[in-house]
Amino acid sequence: MQSEAKPFFKRKVCMACRICVDACPVSCIDTASSGTDRDPHGYPFLADEAACISCNQCAETCPVEAVVMQAAA
Ligand code: SF4
Ligand code: SF4
Repeated sequence: MQSEAKPFFKRKVCMACRICVDACPVSCIDTASSGTDRDPHGYPFLADEAACISCNQCAETCPVEAVVMQAAA
């Protein structure tokens, strides 16, 4: 059976470029601003976990490896 890992976004590495947001085929990643000027587009987070199909696209497209796929608890 395929892993049902979900993405975890490492804010210390993420540069808030939104590439992962655009890469997600089911649009389940949203962004939220931290209120600082580090993230003009907002940091990504998994907004709709049920919609995520664990396709790994977000992790594969992130240019700085800020997305880690983690198995569901
Ligand atoms: S694993 Fe796929 S479906 Fe899930 S958030 Fe990433 S790109 Fe979207
Ligand atoms: S692609 Fe990577 S660096 Fe860009 S917003 Fe997503 S997690 Fe952050």
